Amino acid sequence: MNTKMELGNRLLEFGIKPSLQRIAIMEYLMKHLTHPTADMIFNDLYPSIPTLSKTTVYNTLKLFEEQGAIHAVSIDEKNVRYDADLSPHAHFKCKRCGSVNDFPLSNVYISEGIDSGDFQVTDCHVYYKGYCKQCKDFIKNEN
Ligand SMILES: [Zn+2]
Ligand SMILES: [Zn+2]
Repeated sequence: MNTKMELGNRLLEFGIKPSLQRIAIMEYLMKHLTHPTADMIFNDLYPSIPTLSKTTVYNTLKLFEEQGAIHAVSIDEKNVRYDADLSPHAHFKCKRCGSVNDFPLSNVYISEGIDSGDFQVTDCHVYYKGYCKQCKDFIKNEN
């Protein structure tokens, strides 16, 4: 697992000054690749870091995203979700339980960094919606 020092170095690589709270948030994101929301992160970290505020969590996530240390996933209309996995992949949201899962990205869509002449692509987000395995089985059994 990542040590505090490795996490601090990771932040520095993205031009982010490490602080204990920033390290804790990055550690959480790297451990929970379930695309948590800011509220989920706050609720889980608050008991062990009582000095943490919701504003700090929001501001830290914004900073991480701006510096390219994490990706914001806006597949959910209500809540932005955050992803520390920077490898190219698509996302799949279950319409029944709301879970957001990683989904393999077809090579066709790996287009970050491409310049078509008219458009220079810097970001590529591919979202799928449907039913996850559990919900698919649930719906099947209902019928
Ligand atoms: Zn589901
Ligand atoms: Zn992801």
